[in-house]
Amino acid sequence: MNSINASPVLIIGGGVAGIGAALDLAYCGHAVHLVEKGRILGGHVAKLDKLYPTDHCAFCPLWTDIKKLREHPLITVHTSTEVKELKRVDSRLHAVMVKKPPVIDGSTCVFCGKCAGVCTEAAIETLGEHVYPPTYLVREEICNRCEKCVKECPTGAIDFQRREETIQLMFDDVIWASGFTEVDLTPLPEFGLGKHPDIMTAMEFEKWTAEAGVNKGAIIKKSKSSVPRNIAFIQCAGARDQRLLSYCSAVCCMHALKQAQWAIRRNPVIQCVVFYTDLRTVGRDYYQYFLRDISGSRVRVIRGRPSLIYPLPAREGIAVKFENTITQKREIWKFDMVVLNGNIGSSLKKKDQEKHFSPALSGDGFVNSASDDISRFSCGFSAEPADVAESVIQASSAAVKAILARRNK
Ligand SMILES: Cc1cc2nc3c(=O)[nH]c(=O)nc-3n(C[C@H](O)[C@H](O)[C@H](O)COP(=O)(O)OP(=O)(O)OC[C@H]3O[C@@H](n4cnc5c(N)ncnc54)[C@H](O)[C@@H]3O)c2cc1C
Repeated sequence: MNSINASPVLIIGGGVAGIGAALDLAYCGHAVHLVEKGRILGGHVAKLDKLYPTDHCAFCPLWTDIKKLREHPLITVHTSTEVKELKRVDSRLHAVMVKKPPVIDGSTCVFCGKCAGVCTEAAIETLGEHVYPPTYLVREEICNRCEKCVKECPTGAIDFQRREETIQLMFDDVIWASGFTEVDLTPLPEFGLGKHPDIMTAMEFEKWTAEAGVNKGAIIKKSKSSVPRNIAFIQCAGARDQRLLSYCSAVCCMHALKQAQWAIRRNPVIQCVVFYTDLRTVGRDYYQYFLRDISGSRVRVIRGRPSLIYPLPAREGIAVKFENTITQKREIWKFDMVVLNGNIGSSLKKKDQEKHFSPALSGDGFVNSASDDISRFSCGFSAEPADVAESVIQASSAAVKAILARRNK
């Protein structure tokens, strides 16, 4: 397989979008540098439990793609590396990246578990076999640096002396696939985040209830380790709100229905209520998903945006004050858990957006390109709020556009 253009494409972000774009480019013969600031590839999807609309395991298809990517000769993967700056130098882009190497090097770890076996502080944990390549990590906050693990490791993968390094490379083409970040909801005090352990964001709930997580799929309260009688899912918490995110986060209605449905599947005694502004379950499969959820009152949906969420005294649960805009009744209901959905925004920084993307050229909404010699594209959630299916389609589109731009140079 020959590279058509010797200069590799830089892809920022190793979530589903970055992985998709990297594979498409490499299969068409283009070299790629995929840079991911986290320890592992997969982005947020690697932290999800099930995936709507199929309810399949989130990690299985991702694992297959990560394996293909890791083994592809045209793809260079930089994990634990963050792209800090992109500057134009002559007619090229100069990328400044900072690598913070983990104590256990994932490329030489053979996942034998000997390090964890000798650790007296239980400071070495596995990210699970579903991470490719499977590896261990040191929880530096509790490690006492006895270094017994260093002596025990048969491949020399453990080194406490590794230092941060700066990598500088030049590129002609860049694809942003830097996904989303959770936006701090505490400036909106009416949602009560931080005021009760059982008021959490959807991402926290996903982690807390995941089959591969701490509770192995059990739905329990954080405050008392007991089963909640009921859970409220609050839509548009921070989204479609001029004070935080002025747009719809696009994925939250679907993932609230998913989380509510899975909570009930795992424990049918739990009652789930979704408080919504509009339910955006667009398209055939997505609408069917919604209909399936509400049939037989498995999940109750109420049109109304709660105005106040607050903990009740004596750990008596959490109050949700709302107006049901269908019945026009104002009510206060009591819940054991509250999940806030909506506070997710693009991680493409405003300064990068202004520096690298010309709004006048972003005709197709999510894939943009500048008019100079350097082609710049964006895809996945960093370009436009998008779920997995949409992010992967955008990634392919960005890859094709990058290939065309390279041919035309
Ligand atoms: C609670 C919740 C549940 C969801 N459930 C579903 C579902 O069931 N089905 C579905 O289809 N979608 C679901 N989604 C949406 C799904 O998570 C996104 O569509 C998907 O993560 C988008 O992928 P991405 O690659 O664009 O971004 P991300 O997954 O955010 O990946 C971006 C990656 O870029 C990296 N990065 C960022 N900046 C830099 C930098 N400067 N340098 C290097 N790396 C960087 C990040 O570390 C990250 O790994 C859910 C979302 C949420 C919040």
